[in-house]
Amino acid sequence: MGTKVAKFGGTSLADSEQIRKVQLLINADSERRYIVPSAPGKRDASDRKITDLLYLCHAQVRQNVPIGEVFTIIADRYREIVRDLNVGIDLEPHLEEIEKKISEGASADYAASRGEFLNGLILSALLDYDFVDPYEIIFFDKYGRLDSERSQTETKNRLSNHNKAVIPGFYGCSHDGKIKTFPRGGSDITGAIVAKGVNADIYENWTDVSGLLMADPNIVENPRPIDTITYRELRELAYMGANVIHDEAIFPVREAGIPVKIKNTNKPDDPGTLIVQDAGPVTHTGTITGIAGRKDFTVITIEKALMNAIVGYGRRLLSVIEVNGISFEHMPSGIDTISLVIPDSQLENKLDNILKEIQSECAPDSIEVNPNMALIATVGRGMARTPGIASKLFGSLAEKKINVRMIDQGSSEINIIVGVETDDFENAQRAIYQSFTG
Ligand code: ADP
Ligand code: ASP
Ligand code: MG
Repeated sequence: MGTKVAKFGGTSLADSEQIRKVQLLINADSERRYIVPSAPGKRDASDRKITDLLYLCHAQVRQNVPIGEVFTIIADRYREIVRDLNVGIDLEPHLEEIEKKISEGASADYAASRGEFLNGLILSALLDYDFVDPYEIIFFDKYGRLDSERSQTETKNRLSNHNKAVIPGFYGCSHDGKIKTFPRGGSDITGAIVAKGVNADIYENWTDVSGLLMADPNIVENPRPIDTITYRELRELAYMGANVIHDEAIFPVREAGIPVKIKNTNKPDDPGTLIVQDAGPVTHTGTITGIAGRKDFTVITIEKALMNAIVGYGRRLLSVIEVNGISFEHMPSGIDTISLVIPDSQLENKLDNILKEIQSECAPDSIEVNPNMALIATVGRGMARTPGIASKLFGSLAEKKINVRMIDQGSSEINIIVGVETDDFENAQRAIYQSFTG
């Protein structure tokens, strides 16, 4: 018998009606043996995710605000799900313990992880699958990074004893034995680790859209779905904002050569998107696979005459940002200039100090700081060495009078990144999408 790992996202498990759909999907295919659930997400646009409410409880405790009111909203959502589905499970002792621990100052990671934990308990009872706590199989190292070797070994060993199991997403065990979560959206990573651990034939990622779309549907109206995409392209798009699947979820499945399928829980007959190592030649050159973007970057541009001839200039510059504990996203350079593109979140309270240190370490002729920059990635394996792509891309932006402030074509040749003003972020994506699909 084959093995499928199926991860279901928050909207797919937001209430009993959604969970029924999930149950039907799992029961329809006996190969769906390992199930990775998220916490209940939003039921409609104005609703709140359980994970957000759990983080809120934790924040309230830190501000000495009683959590009773918010915790009751959380508990009632689970109670309603258990009641509607008529599952024989008593969540009360768990709810009591979780409320107590959060009130007593348990960590944010502990609080957030309980969303997936409780949903996992419900699903394992409903499906009659074993419950495997990821705390026992997924491990982080002392730097807080996933210890993939240990996690893969433990996952493989442990799951070989379970023919069918539910493994909650999003969390594992820190190096000192505490609950630790992945970044937001991290249940996708759990699913990928489980898929590799059980050597799955396929990793199914069930969500609320019919696959990876060519652009963010919140920005571009009705973007076309992508039928097949490579791991590399997906990683570029996911990292740059196509958050239908977490970009770090690619690594375990890519190493093991396991294909990923993104599917819509609400429209299971839609084909979805297949993610593979080699998607074959593109049918016509000059096409792109997709567009994604992120806001909130600052660009620091350093100019120095004859920079190209000064040995070690780049190293001096990079060591300034290194000692300040900052990583950069891109580093476009010219003969006499280097720009560093840095996410604002990294720069908080550090910019003044960095500028001072660049001044003293690198003695530049000028330093320019441009905040409010947004980056847009246009990705496609079909674009390598295709001259028409760049002119179409830049032509579409020029036509809409959008000023391009930075260009970086990754050496991978499957990605052109442009920097635009934050105010142009949405329009730029619409313009690029139009030019390649219209
Ligand atoms: P889940 O809770 O199932 O993990 P997410 O909310 O994390 O779902 O991801 C799905 C959402 O990602 C979609 O509803 C959509 O709004 C958003 N999204 C952003 N960019 C894209 C894209 N290029 N293709 C598909 N969805 C996208
Ligand atoms: N529930 C977590 C979040 O909202 C993890 C996930 O959904 O993947 O980020
Ligand atoms: Mg997600």
